[in-house]
Amino acid sequence: MKISYKLLNLELKFPFNIAKFSRTSTPVLLLEIRYEEFRGLGEASMVPYMGENFDTAIAFLNQVDFTRFSFPFDMDEIIAYLDDIAPGQPAIKAAIDMALHDLTGKIENRPCFRLFKADSRKMPLTTYTIGIDTPGIIVKKVEDALSHNFKLLKIKLGRDSDKLLIDTIRSVTDLPLYVDANQGWEDRIKGVEMTYWLQEQGVLLIEQPMDKADIDGNAYITANSPIPIIGDEAVQRLADVEKAHGIYHGINVKLMKSAGMYEAFKMIKKARELDMSVLIGCMSETSIATLAGASLAPLCDFADLDGPFMTLNNPFKQPEFQEGRYVLSEKPGLGVEN
Ligand code: MG
Repeated sequence: MKISYKLLNLELKFPFNIAKFSRTSTPVLLLEIRYEEFRGLGEASMVPYMGENFDTAIAFLNQVDFTRFSFPFDMDEIIAYLDDIAPGQPAIKAAIDMALHDLTGKIENRPCFRLFKADSRKMPLTTYTIGIDTPGIIVKKVEDALSHNFKLLKIKLGRDSDKLLIDTIRSVTDLPLYVDANQGWEDRIKGVEMTYWLQEQGVLLIEQPMDKADIDGNAYITANSPIPIIGDEAVQRLADVEKAHGIYHGINVKLMKSAGMYEAFKMIKKARELDMSVLIGCMSETSIATLAGASLAPLCDFADLDGPFMTLNNPFKQPEFQEGRYVLSEKPGLGVEN
């Protein structure tokens, strides 16, 4: 088993502003694992607030003894081994996990979604995310989303201008919306009022209304909201799903938080057992991580996998996308094409 990687600064089409920060590019590490004649691809997208970067990712890879892994890959054992090397660093672990799943699919000549028994016909619509911005830029973003045939938009809220932002969107489109407050709401009573107002504006769900540490505040909004409340920042890995039960209606699973597809799949199953809904989300990602997320998306209720539409220098072919949803191919593995 041989590994190689490339570092890439993934440039954003529009600077990304949410409640707590702003940025114009995202460092990603593209990993290739060669096993016999097969090549598996994985990706670590390292958004700054998660604390990983090129240096931490490379240092982690240098500690992994890849000769321990052989097909069929025992993912329980591999994830436990990676977690033993260092806690945290879920993005670089996700890159390894994805490359191993891509390899498994290629060795077995099956697409990755079949490894998880996902039904490609159940692919949910994907949202196009619109960050906090001036009305002029927001209109441009909506036009960009419409030009790609998106049927759903996700709006980042959490500042004082929330209502103005929704009014701006509504001046150009009637598409249904998801809202992500990114922990930006500070008052639970006003938060509940906002959920009713947002429902009237055609909003279908709200992500992470209050600070993830404010368990009572988030639980209060969930108990009183007419639309689903989804935990994102509060839910990273499998152990967090049970903790989120009773606080949120559902969870946002992201491969860059869960340390990859294998644990994301377990999180989806756990959420189902607890009767919670699941949104599969993404970071700024190339086609590799997007196709990995799309492979699990049919098992979820909602999808926000817009990475390739938010970036300018994705080195791979854009995943096939029709009428607002990804179309999974029968190609073995993740189906990444140059
Ligand atoms: Mg979110």
